[in-house]
Amino acid sequence: MSVALDGTHDAALHSWIDSANDPASDFPIQNLPFGRFRRGSESGWRVGVAIGDRVLDLYQAGLTDSCDIHSLMLLGRQRRLDLRKALSKGLQIGSPDESRFRTALVVQADVEMGLPCDIGDYTDFYTSIHHATTVGNQFRPDNPLLPNYKWVPIGYHGRSSSIAVSEPGLGHTFVRPKGQTKAADAEEPTLRPSARLDFELELGAVIARPNVAGEPIAMCDAEEHVFGLTLFNDWSARDIQGWEYQPLGPFLSKNFASTVSPWMVTLDALAPFRAAFTRPAGDPQPLPYLDSQSNREQGAFDIALEVWLQTASMRDAGHVGELLNTANYRDAYWTMAQLVAHHTVNGCNLRCGDLFGTGTLSGPLPEQGGSLLELSQGGKRALALSNGETRTFLEDGDTVILRGYCQRAGFRRIGFGECRGTVLAARA
Ligand code: MN
Repeated sequence: MSVALDGTHDAALHSWIDSANDPASDFPIQNLPFGRFRRGSESGWRVGVAIGDRVLDLYQAGLTDSCDIHSLMLLGRQRRLDLRKALSKGLQIGSPDESRFRTALVVQADVEMGLPCDIGDYTDFYTSIHHATTVGNQFRPDNPLLPNYKWVPIGYHGRSSSIAVSEPGLGHTFVRPKGQTKAADAEEPTLRPSARLDFELELGAVIARPNVAGEPIAMCDAEEHVFGLTLFNDWSARDIQGWEYQPLGPFLSKNFASTVSPWMVTLDALAPFRAAFTRPAGDPQPLPYLDSQSNREQGAFDIALEVWLQTASMRDAGHVGELLNTANYRDAYWTMAQLVAHHTVNGCNLRCGDLFGTGTLSGPLPEQGGSLLELSQGGKRALALSNGETRTFLEDGDTVILRGYCQRAGFRRIGFGECRGTVLAARA
């Protein structure tokens, strides 16, 4: 693992695409995230790079020889960096490539975005110790954090079939799940629509390079296997979860819908926003297979995260929604490299397109909870919204919008776009 800054991160770079130079844009020339798009009439996906309010079609610009994003994700480090440099050069003011690139540009609002790649296996982790402690407190006040937490990056295998991509407007729409729930004072469970539907503020990491079964990925190589990061909402039905989760963990409470943002922000783009991995005094240091000098120095990422809620009545009133909470990925207990090393230490093979969820990213303060379970203290304290509504858990018609961005003095701010989804009423 090595984090290298180069000319593509220079804050002074400007693009001949004006919208990319808008300080509010998530997609300046320093970002260059990858995704899949198509125009209305097309059946297949094309590989695109977001730049301002446009998408550059990589194939049409002559930068790739295929429209398959997976072959691009499998490029080795040097070819990947060469592509980033070619994009940066071609999109800069004064580039001789401008006229060729211009013919390969489309307006983002005119295209449909797909899942960033074909997602294979999906694993969700539990990397926020603040989330784990707050949730543990609700279920086990005398023993909130289980003894393995500080040694093992805890995770479970999820389901990829129900992961959908964010879209503008309502985004990924899904029907409120039904399931077995059992009230504490009830003798028997009943089948009913979830009454404690929640979001989870997460980041997704998309695996690019596979490993051979039986061959663990070492910490020093771990980040070479990650193509980039996305926003990720792991919708969860807390009442279904509470009844089903013992002894094997979440099942139907989490596999009905998850939403991913369309743009993969590469680790190369995130190089200026790295942070040291630290442990509070008195906590155990990671076992050697989860430790490296580079990880200690710069294994974490400084990514600011936000959750916004737009209720149906806000939408009717033309209100864009309100900020529910903020958090930062820097506060996670385990780094991305540690997740990759741990997932493969037993010989498990990862494949191109596998997705890791970080787990709910909550900050240290109570108002930084990355889920309603935390923000409403398990449904005991309703959140007052600015329009007079209140929420403990999500209501039908609620749209949840995740946002993320990185900023640091001396560098251009880059962002992740949006991850949007809306709850529809349960089926009758
Ligand atoms: Mn989760």
